[in-house]
Amino acid sequence: MIVVGNWKMFRGPDPAALAGLGAIVCPPYVRLAECVDAGLVTYAQNVHWENEGAYTGEISPVMLRDLAVTGSLVGHSERRRYFGETDETVGLRARAALAAGLRVIACVGETIEERRGGRTEHVLRRQLSVLEPNDDLVLAYEPVWAIGTGHTATPETAQAAHAFIKSILDAPVIYGGSVNPDNAESLLSQPDVDGALVGGASLDVDSFTAICRTAARIRS
Ligand code: PEP
Repeated sequence: MIVVGNWKMFRGPDPAALAGLGAIVCPPYVRLAECVDAGLVTYAQNVHWENEGAYTGEISPVMLRDLAVTGSLVGHSERRRYFGETDETVGLRARAALAAGLRVIACVGETIEERRGGRTEHVLRRQLSVLEPNDDLVLAYEPVWAIGTGHTATPETAQAAHAFIKSILDAPVIYGGSVNPDNAESLLSQPDVDGALVGGASLDVDSFTAICRTAARIRS
């Protein structure tokens, strides 16, 4: 089971409080070194595809590697929605990070309009088309309508989407979207749910610890 805490643009908890949980943390860039030094498996929230250059505000795969960061998220829906991230740039970021020896968690997921319009599978297929199988690649199914909204996908909805994703690309698939200590067990018990990407609840040590413990109990 893979449990990931995405701290987004929040300062986040004391890394020492998360030691021994076996989880991955994605802090803001300014706290990457602190989390690495605390012994946590640390991922960035995004990564550029060039090693260096005139790309203000970006950070490169080799820079992350030099910090002993293990990997990076790519394609989070907040990047797609607010910062113009496209399938093409998600593919570039994922490929460069993997080539540099980083692990990658690539996020995919449909909006509520796409789901209501019956286009979920079409959207997932399109988002996955820029990615290739790789031992260091994990996918995160994050329905946009479930992120930060409290409207978690039902376990059945998550399971169906995960099975569809795996039929296209052979990789572990973790679920993200309002995961909390109360719904973690039912979601993580689904056969094709290989873990959780946790946003809001990862900012609270007790909640995140409870989710990690549930995950460890279900499948280690
Ligand atoms: C996320 O940030 O990827 C996420 C799933 O957030 P939340 O758990 O708050 O919905």
